Amino acid sequence: MRICMIGTGYVGLVSGACFADFGHDVTCVDKDEGKIDGLLAGRMPIWEPGLEALVSHNASRGRLKFTTDLAEGIRDADAVFIAVGTPARRGDGHADLSYVYAAAKEIAGALTRPAVVVTKSTVPVGTGDEIARILKENNAPEGTSVASNPEFLREGAAIRDFKIPDRIVVGAEDETAREVLREVYRPLFLNKAPILFTGRRTAELIKYAANAFLATKISFINEVADLCEAVGADVQEVSRGIGLDNRIGPKFLHAGPGYGGSCFPKDTLALLQTAEGEGVPMQIVSAVVAVNDQRKSAMADRVAEELGGDLKDKKVAVLGLTFKPNTDDMRDAPSLSLIRRLQEGGASVAAFDPVGREQAEPMLPGISFAADAYAAAEGADALVLVTEWDEFRGLDLKRLASVMRGNNLVDLRNVYEPAEAERAGLRYRGIGRGDLS
Ligand code: NAD
Repeated sequence: MRICMIGTGYVGLVSGACFADFGHDVTCVDKDEGKIDGLLAGRMPIWEPGLEALVSHNASRGRLKFTTDLAEGIRDADAVFIAVGTPARRGDGHADLSYVYAAAKEIAGALTRPAVVVTKSTVPVGTGDEIARILKENNAPEGTSVASNPEFLREGAAIRDFKIPDRIVVGAEDETAREVLREVYRPLFLNKAPILFTGRRTAELIKYAANAFLATKISFINEVADLCEAVGADVQEVSRGIGLDNRIGPKFLHAGPGYGGSCFPKDTLALLQTAEGEGVPMQIVSAVVAVNDQRKSAMADRVAEELGGDLKDKKVAVLGLTFKPNTDDMRDAPSLSLIRRLQEGGASVAAFDPVGREQAEPMLPGISFAADAYAAAEGADALVLVTEWDEFRGLDLKRLASVMRGNNLVDLRNVYEPAEAERAGLRYRGIGRGDLS
């Protein structure tokens, strides 16, 4: 199959490289010349485990190409994937579809023969209908069809998720689209990945419903964690105790500083906008969003409490800035609101993140960046563990305690055992560990 991938970000680049690895002939297109020049020179625009090797292997075999020229990328394509950003629109939380629609218009002008145009971007219900309209209005070749193929990969494990997905969802309204996508994904369902064919609108909604459900699990366990603190119970054990029930499952039941990242915050808001537009209340999702917003701001209060209620002139060390480990993505990371509030309270912040510094630096003015966890902790009154990178799991707590001015460890990911931290001379405060912290 000849595939054109429009948008070479976290989703487009990983999907394009994986499709090429299946043997398809893939051209990735991006408007950002810097990204494409870098890729042509073998430099990755994002940090994702295994991506560089996958890209260079397939580029050297001639199956994976990069260009800024959409018309060139689209030539003879059987399937044209749209994987551009759909950020939340400022102010109202609607998904900003301007990049998607601009891409659709360009595709219409560039196609020389019919193809299947596939949205991989997360788009609200009805976007496929609008893309079909734009294609027609801009004289796309007769027979061009539009399908929805939402992406469920997680940053940090993106290649594995793409190659061994729990399921592939294809929303299509015609047999040509179904056939082309069946062929595109054939290497995967040979490995028994279930492929689910639905209508286009249903596929669009599946993606939002999935993300809203996962966000619900997170907000739910975070509220349970607060209750644990009040009643003297341990949320780690509550999570395990409920997660072992197959009907519930153990995933997404880790209490923490609230969900962030480039998907859950914007997708829950966009789903609420769709529901509101249709006059269908989604009270659970509304509550999930509100709980998460409160949670993010409560994390700085937690640090302040440990420091006697006053952040003024305190020095706080922050470990981990990216929204989760194994990515450099800083979009909507919990560290951003935490650090902003610490600074507003008068604290100075020194931070360390294994790979996030480049993206974090412009977003976090006024903080200092340390070379490692121990350097960040030097002279700190409190150490706050925000992102559970593996390299923060085995820190020498005694050494940390010895370089700090104070002795507070605020562990927002429950990485450490309270007793272990206390033995090292640190005052431990985790999340939802009412009987211990
Ligand atoms: P991203 O911002 O990393 O990448 C988007 C890319 O599209 C950018 O490089 C941008 O330059 C390019 N672009 C925009 N308009 C273009 C155009 N007209 N022509 C060519 N290139 C264009 O975004 P992302 O994180 O990869 O997300 C893309 C979509 O996938 C979003 O809708 C997102 O919600 C969805 N998604 C993301 C993830 C994730 O983990 N990041 C997971 C599943 C789904």
